[in-house]
Amino acid sequence: MRVIFLILIFPVVLFNCGSSRPVMEGVESPIQSIPNPNQGKPAKNLILMIGDGMGLTQITAGIYDNNNYLTFEKFPITGLMKTHSYDNLVTDSAAGGTAMACGVKTYNNGVGVDKDGIPVKSILEEAEEKEMMTGIVVTSALVNATPATFMAHQKLRAFTEPIAEEIANSGVDFLVGGGKKYFDRRNSDDRNLLKEMETKDYQVEDFINNQRIQDVKINPGKKFVYLTADDDPLSKITGRNYLPYASKMGAEFLKARSENGFFMMIEGSQIDLGGHATNFKYVMSELQDFDETIKEVLQFAEKDGETLVVVTADHETGGLTIKEGSKLKKIKSDFAYGRHTGTMVPVFAYGPGSENFSGIFDNTDLYRKMKAALALESRN
Ligand SMILES: [Zn+2]
Repeated sequence: MRVIFLILIFPVVLFNCGSSRPVMEGVESPIQSIPNPNQGKPAKNLILMIGDGMGLTQITAGIYDNNNYLTFEKFPITGLMKTHSYDNLVTDSAAGGTAMACGVKTYNNGVGVDKDGIPVKSILEEAEEKEMMTGIVVTSALVNATPATFMAHQKLRAFTEPIAEEIANSGVDFLVGGGKKYFDRRNSDDRNLLKEMETKDYQVEDFINNQRIQDVKINPGKKFVYLTADDDPLSKITGRNYLPYASKMGAEFLKARSENGFFMMIEGSQIDLGGHATNFKYVMSELQDFDETIKEVLQFAEKDGETLVVVTADHETGGLTIKEGSKLKKIKSDFAYGRHTGTMVPVFAYGPGSENFSGIFDNTDLYRKMKAALALESRN
């Protein structure tokens, strides 16, 4: 019996061995993290980068889709973060953003408030109190949940016009994102918040007349806001191209104007939308765009030496998986469904204070780790 089995199985094994080739044939493995500067010292500046809906599989697929390399691999420190909200193992972006921005668990849909709906200060607001400069650059509307959790306090993320009002009053020095209509053509009142921002020392620019942010001349004495769309901006596939540029521009803008350092949040907002649409190409193009942005930010931070860069996600979207039969640049993917999932998300860190971002921790701990890295409490 055993002999018969071996006779039957042996040619199959032989055939498989003979025909198999290494999947990485001809591909260099460039994995090399960059040296970590100023360990043990507080960071002067912090750039937090959030890939909305960016789980480990999105990054893995992005790496294989890009011939086995993305900038993510340069980070010297990696960790894992739990993302559950106060009332749900599967968070939404409002509760996930609030955890990272304010350090508290809240219910899904809560923006910058605790589980009882009470406003909680965000790290951006605390940085402002310490006279640091602040910036937000996103590829969603500025009133969307993730950016809103850093600048606004509302019981529901759906309160977009009150959120716009809070953003207009936030004093954030550099703002780039969509959602113009929530500022200047409001349903709840006749106010034009962009006009009001001009009186509060903002240079206000937008996408109208095809003006690109790349062509805007900055007024050096003012704060800066550029509205990239009326609501959510275009996807990368349909022509959006500002995230890497605006992020670099923001970091340089804030650095040039701040003696006391800056806090900046950059979001690759639409990785999440690709997951909701269970559209793999959409996810990959948004992830590549986010990786391009990381490249710009790391170049800035390497030159600067005093900037901590932290990259993470609020949650995974889609339950993305890489299936058998996948090849480099030809991933066979599948989604569990077009909704968020409860899996842990990766954390990447570089720069002074980055050593505290390894291991497994809660998303509310990210807030405490960022504050500790900036020595925010002990700043004057
Ligand atoms: Zn989502």
